[in-house]
Amino acid sequence: MLTFQLVYSDGYYLPIGPHVFPAEKYRRVRDRLLETGIAESSDFLTAEPADDRDILLVHTPEYVRKLSTGTLSAREEMELEIPYSPELVKAFWLAAGGSILAAKCALQSGVSINIGGGFHHAFPDHGEGFCMINDVAVAIRTMQRDQKIRTAMTVDCDVHHGNGTAAIFAGGRTSANPLPSTSASVRQTPPLIGSVKADACDVFTISLHQENNYPARKPPSSIDVDLPDGIGDDAYLAWLDNALSSGLRQFQPDLICYVAGADPYREDQLGGLALTIEGLKRRDQLMFRVAKSRNIPVMVTFAGGYARRVEDTVAIHCNTVIAAREIFAAQKSVAPSYV
Ligand SMILES: [Zn+2]
Repeated sequence: MLTFQLVYSDGYYLPIGPHVFPAEKYRRVRDRLLETGIAESSDFLTAEPADDRDILLVHTPEYVRKLSTGTLSAREEMELEIPYSPELVKAFWLAAGGSILAAKCALQSGVSINIGGGFHHAFPDHGEGFCMINDVAVAIRTMQRDQKIRTAMTVDCDVHHGNGTAAIFAGGRTSANPLPSTSASVRQTPPLIGSVKADACDVFTISLHQENNYPARKPPSSIDVDLPDGIGDDAYLAWLDNALSSGLRQFQPDLICYVAGADPYREDQLGGLALTIEGLKRRDQLMFRVAKSRNIPVMVTFAGGYARRVEDTVAIHCNTVIAAREIFAAQKSVAPSYV
């Protein structure tokens, strides 16, 4: 039995037909965790749909009305890049409810993982790139409204920039000093990432992403690490370590929301970085070690993952659970990782 909760629902399945997004990955992760004994059924809590009042803390009434009534324009549906259906809307409300629940559980146990969510391309008034509702932003704003947290930090390690999240939380921030671009060259030693004014900020956003990838327009996060194409495990981990150190020097969050995308993987169809499965597990371990050492609760969502072999994406997501177990368990786990 784990010392923390996993949040899941069969309703996380996205009814989008044949698609590069492996909609069945959530169920496959849950099944694999159970089959391999990494988790027991009692470790899972069932997600409930978010309340509309929670969704409206982030999204505009007009957008929510369009989703509820099926009246997105053709252009809006095209930007979403997944086919609209009322069932799809339900799946996104459920993912948001799951992230809210995982955030609550993280405050109690130090960590909690939503076996779903991480839809970081959703903006207040529209969806993009397979993301209809920004579940992480909804979870943060709900926790703040309910006075469970005052501040939060998003650490977005999906290979794609967290544009929706950056835009949503940009309003609470004074204008940032321009950050040095990391893309000019691959440096042996990461330079110190520039500082931003965090005083007026209640949510600090970090995005570590491939610069030369979707989305074309990247609204500024508090810290953006624009990674060059083809970066491997060691360089990536150095950048992450640097970004976390820099962010946590400037800002003390009550909660970290870790977006643990599987798509920095070298076999990913929509990514251009070159991390290995083991390197991605080391990434998770680094995130968890940093959070635990500072006593900051961490809520995890899965976000993207488009490996040629779906089982690789499943293995990467399962390793996130194993990494959490290793770091947060009282005794070191002997569970194998999938490599
Ligand atoms: Zn992605």
